[in-house]
Amino acid sequence: MPDMSNAASILPFTLPGCIVDAVRNAGATLLVDAHTTQPCPQCPACGHASARMHSRYLRLVRDLPDTDCPVRLLPRARRFFCDDDACPKRTFAERLPDLVPYRARRTPRLIRALRDIGFAAGGEAGARLAARLCMPHERRRSAASMASTCRPSSTHGCLGGSAIGSLRCRPS
Ligand SMILES: [Zn+2]
Repeated sequence: MPDMSNAASILPFTLPGCIVDAVRNAGATLLVDAHTTQPCPQCPACGHASARMHSRYLRLVRDLPDTDCPVRLLPRARRFFCDDDACPKRTFAERLPDLVPYRARRTPRLIRALRDIGFAAGGEAGARLAARLCMPHERRRSAASMASTCRPSSTHGCLGGSAIGSLRCRPS
């Protein structure tokens, strides 16, 4: 049985802008708990930096699978007050541009993988292949149609299976 309390230190990837708190299993899924670390995020409307936190919230971000396990990132992000009186925003959610685009629910590397599968295998076949590879997809949209709308904003390495392969999930 792997030491799950120290699991974050053996992850073969980092979460830009975050610190990994824990890695755990939930059924057949690998969950990565994390929190954001930007000291003074900038308001996206006016550029004013703020350290005055309004609240925290949990994001659910799907990532590439590790071996046979779907991976879900759970970064605890924050909302801040904007203290610029001229700004139309009273509060703003901090952005994690190097981890996941604003309001996106997939990492850029997962989006790229799904796009590539969609282009190579086509819509329905691509969706079936993605499901078989433990990559989440939406039933209403084929991998190919999703690919046409995806615009990844940055590049990251792929998840390696070897280092966290010991964190095997139970088969579903
Ligand atoms: Zn502002």
